[in-house]
Amino acid sequence: MEYTRTCKKCGVQSVRQEQFTNLSLDLVPGGCIEDMIEKYLLEVELEYSCECGGKSSGQTLTFASLPKTFIIHLKRFCYTPSFNLQKIYDPVQIQRDIVVSSKMGGGCFSLVSAISHSGSTGEGHYICDSIDPEDCPLEPTDHWLTFNDSTVLKTSGWDVCKKRQELAYILFYRRHDV
Ligand SMILES: [Zn+2]
Repeated sequence: MEYTRTCKKCGVQSVRQEQFTNLSLDLVPGGCIEDMIEKYLLEVELEYSCECGGKSSGQTLTFASLPKTFIIHLKRFCYTPSFNLQKIYDPVQIQRDIVVSSKMGGGCFSLVSAISHSGSTGEGHYICDSIDPEDCPLEPTDHWLTFNDSTVLKTSGWDVCKKRQELAYILFYRRHDV
């Protein structure tokens, strides 16, 4: 990611890059994954003392480059104002395909796996849905598998997107345009 900080008073900019293994996105209730990425990239205001005497800067984020696999963590756990851990059950639209732009151009990514958390802050259970590794990439049939402890069941990507809207916690998108 590339962070660009711009002084609100004199306009001087400073740029730094940081490497990430995953993106942690604030939940947009009812929103899709691209909505949440868009929100993540929005300018935020920072308190920063510039040499010009300005005290406020704006910070924008852009993707300097794109990964082979996007690991997207949806922030379903948060703290209330009284510091109690809370789980957010709002549904999200799990997109099969997302397009992300970067300084090096855009990239297309397809959902290949999803980890879902059911339960509350105190106790819960994780299950994983993944594309069937035997599904042929040239003639995809949408065969997916649900891994639930020692049980493995057949499912479809379509079903996963429908059923996991309120549970999806970590999503894996693989790039397919390179
Ligand atoms: Zn300044």
